[in-house]
Amino acid sequence: MNLRETMQAEQQLKALFEQAQGYAFEYAAGVTDRNVFPTQEAMTDLEQFVEDMPSQSGDASSILQQLHQYGSPASVAQTGGRYFGFVNGGIIPVTLATKWLTDFWDQNTALQVMSPITSKLEEVCEQWLQQLLGLPETTVAGFVSGTSSAIFCGLAAARLRIYANHGWDFNAQGHNGAPPIRIIAGRHTHGAVVKAIALLGFGVDNIEWVEGDDQGRIDPAAMPALDNSCIVVLQAGNVNSGAFDPFEQICDSANSAGAWVHIDGAFGLWAGGTERLKYLTEGMHKAHSWSVDGHKTLNTPYDSGILLCRDKEALVTALQASGAYLTANYSDRRDGMMYTPEMSRRARAIELWAALKYLGRSGVDELVYGLHERAVQFAEELRAADFEILNDVVFNQVIVSPSHDEEITQQILQQIQASGECWVGSSIWQGKKVIRISVCSWVTSEEDIRRSAQAFIHAREIICGK
Ligand SMILES: *Cc1c(COP(=O)(O)O)cnc(C)c1O
Repeated sequence: MNLRETMQAEQQLKALFEQAQGYAFEYAAGVTDRNVFPTQEAMTDLEQFVEDMPSQSGDASSILQQLHQYGSPASVAQTGGRYFGFVNGGIIPVTLATKWLTDFWDQNTALQVMSPITSKLEEVCEQWLQQLLGLPETTVAGFVSGTSSAIFCGLAAARLRIYANHGWDFNAQGHNGAPPIRIIAGRHTHGAVVKAIALLGFGVDNIEWVEGDDQGRIDPAAMPALDNSCIVVLQAGNVNSGAFDPFEQICDSANSAGAWVHIDGAFGLWAGGTERLKYLTEGMHKAHSWSVDGHKTLNTPYDSGILLCRDKEALVTALQASGAYLTANYSDRRDGMMYTPEMSRRARAIELWAALKYLGRSGVDELVYGLHERAVQFAEELRAADFEILNDVVFNQVIVSPSHDEEITQQILQQIQASGECWVGSSIWQGKKVIRISVCSWVTSEEDIRRSAQAFIHAREIICGK
């Protein structure tokens, strides 16, 4: 058989997909019991993948077999309920099943004519997000790889609009000779915002930083006077403390000055879609653009970022492509690429649609508030064991200082990580080395928190004695 005939047989016989499914189910069944971080053995076994580029075509079944044997154990058990590193989310079963099904479709979502179903579901998601988050009716959505990309798009739209307000056509004239734009951001803004500012050519040294309070929130009294050349970047969910900037007041003064406000809410924006945590995002609808991830708090599969923008014209113009063959195919329906920097994209909005359809408003509240409750429980259990908690646990983040001695903090952290019981990372908070806990998965139960808190206590005993 030649290669095409072999592939045709593999496609028809389904054995390959059944093999993959078997491995997937085996992985899922073991993920709560295994080490959260790969064992040393699993890490060493990664050498199995190191070889020269194969000269001949291979065997599909043994490729899957190798991947499962050596790849699965070297993955991080993010779906197991005791992974609290960074701000990574879990995965809602129906969204994973949706991904399996739609992977067989292999849709390109650039244009409506390339995938009518994806175009329709992007349109539905756009409307649902506007309703759920209480955003202006003109809000449009771009479905991108993550919040990093979403921030980039939001700030590109802001740049276009601010320049247009000054009679400057940015797409045509660029930066050279352009009137100055001021960028205002909180001292605790995420690195992805700083990166977008650099990529867009504003210059990181030109950022006007605004100091925060003890939770990392912007202090409105510390804001500089705004004018119509300003882009203000606010944050819904500080990556360490989980704190939210005061949107209402800052958006009001930005709006009366003619400034643009972007809110980066990679994991925190979803608070605005809940009943019980909505108070944290008061006034966020007064901003101009927002960035948020499906793959964090909402627990959709990777990768899923969303840019929301109330100024469709600014966004589409900023991200516009100009190939004649493309414009000839534009339709009066939704062409997804109008709202993203990419042209070809996978159909990630379908999983987002499944998540929103499955959860409904009540489910979003239950999911997000549940993460908050588990974070509060984690903080309480650690506090009861005399660990110092440095933040107000308003959302899903907990900052722990196990010791005032940085070296001991580091040793305790490594001991927790090596235990395999849970995984937490470190951060710097108010100049101090700390352990950062992020509760992000629907799977995490009260028992998982109890067990993880015990891992902290046990690690401290090993490092510091009883
Ligand atoms: C995670 C995060 C980002 C970056 O998002 P990606 O999806 O990883 O690109 C930006 N801002 C905040 C506040 C985040 O938590």
